[in-house]
Amino acid sequence: MKKRYLSAPFYVLYFSIFLVLFYALPALSLKYHTNIAGGFSAYQTSIHIIGELLLAIVITTTALYLFSFSSILLKIMVVFFITASTIFSYYVWQNHIGIDEFFIATLFEVPLHDAGEAISWGVFIYFFILGLIPIYFWVFVVKIRYHGRHFFTKVFKYLISLVLTAAILGSLLLTSYLLNKDMGWFERNHYKMRSALSVYMPLNYVAGLYQYLFQLRPSTQYNSVNIAEKYPFSFYDDKFKNDNYTVILVLGESSRAANQQLNGYARQTNPNLVGEENLINFSDMTSCNTYTVYSVNCMLSRKVRVDFQLNTEESNLISAFKALGFKTYYFSTQPLYNETSLSYFLAKDADVKVFANQVRLSVPSNSNIYDEYLLDFVKDIPQDNQKKLIILHLMTSHTPYNLRYPKQFEVFKPNTVVDEYDNSLVYTDYVLHKLLNIYRDEKAFVFFASDHGESLGENGIYLHASAFDTAPREQTHVFSFVWASQAMKNMMGDKFNNIKTKKDLPLSHDNLFPSMFDCMGIESSIVDKSLSLCYSPISE
Ligand SMILES: [Zn+2]
Repeated sequence: MKKRYLSAPFYVLYFSIFLVLFYALPALSLKYHTNIAGGFSAYQTSIHIIGELLLAIVITTTALYLFSFSSILLKIMVVFFITASTIFSYYVWQNHIGIDEFFIATLFEVPLHDAGEAISWGVFIYFFILGLIPIYFWVFVVKIRYHGRHFFTKVFKYLISLVLTAAILGSLLLTSYLLNKDMGWFERNHYKMRSALSVYMPLNYVAGLYQYLFQLRPSTQYNSVNIAEKYPFSFYDDKFKNDNYTVILVLGESSRAANQQLNGYARQTNPNLVGEENLINFSDMTSCNTYTVYSVNCMLSRKVRVDFQLNTEESNLISAFKALGFKTYYFSTQPLYNETSLSYFLAKDADVKVFANQVRLSVPSNSNIYDEYLLDFVKDIPQDNQKKLIILHLMTSHTPYNLRYPKQFEVFKPNTVVDEYDNSLVYTDYVLHKLLNIYRDEKAFVFFASDHGESLGENGIYLHASAFDTAPREQTHVFSFVWASQAMKNMMGDKFNNIKTKKDLPLSHDNLFPSMFDCMGIESSIVDKSLSLCYSPISE
């Protein structure tokens, strides 16, 4: 190929345009479909995407200028950005996901033997075609050089090209502003701006890397503010204070409401739970977020959706139950590899913690980790005279769906995405039924809520983690119910009946934190009784 010569400012500009546009393609189709499904017109969506792309180009170009004083350094950065963008865009294309700090965290925290689910040969082929050829072109074909016989001519030409690229960048920035100004992102909403730009390479993984390494990783900050000390909790109802019982919160994963038999789905996906007499299914429960750690953080914390931001510094409901004398357990089939892992703060305050990597030690090495295995840990809890809070964080329907259930639960065939997803629901039904059986003759209250829903191809959208404001209903309408053993139901009395009256109201994760306390006769200045499912203004 014939060599081409460019001055550094133009080299950086053209390369940034290439980098942003070329590797944005998989994310663009995802974003386009999500926006259309979210009610934007094709015209609006296209205008916004163009505006965002221009802004991404301006930011990338400006940042790359920092390296342009040395052509060798610049080319090292070029190799790095092409390599990283190729690999990340492969995952976006394959898994329909956004790249953010949690994706980066997974890369750092998952040991190789567990990464098998994520690594495939496809990425190498993809890299060979979409990575190596661009690297060859930008490193060996395009040369950075300044023409001119004299030093001053070179400096003059450099300055001219710098001024020209600055002018081009300025006009791109202005166009981008004009295209997106109706969205109000530039003036008002920092968070929306950030999530809009998080679609584009290399901004998404550079920002994700920065956030992971410098904002989220330092574990010393985790739960440094104890809500139980700051806003004391106490029993306002003595029968809950003087008795012993078990409160269980089950966090589901990607369990959407639409495919549950309990919500009228045509397939028998909850064959056991439909027969439970003391089960109250919530037909209209919405999630706080579409992303696991955000949602679970929100569910366990006092924060409500409107003012929710990821907060790793304030302790959650576990610390409050603990302060009231409950022994606390956090059992999870979700992976966590060490105490500096990003999601550790969710479970940090529990007296006993078990994660997937510990569960793995007690199962055959070639087996998948099924949710059922956690029940062995539940059964091992000593039967002593103590109140208990158990949080089960399950994998229920996390992709890949077919790894979530043993072979005998392959009820629906021939294994389309929906078949596999529904099979994972049947298995979850089996596991939850087994859990209820353990506590049927005890005094126990169970609250189940999925962290978010799941798209199964509606309007071309799969999985979850769409930006909340434009997320399709499938990703935010979640499976949720409560159950009480007969003895617990008797103790709860009117409180249980109050829940029944709300089963078809529009509810959300905002109702979870207040209900967990108010239903057990507990109060605090940060428990908003009016949001509790057990509360009724009439019976007060
Ligand atoms: Zn999740």
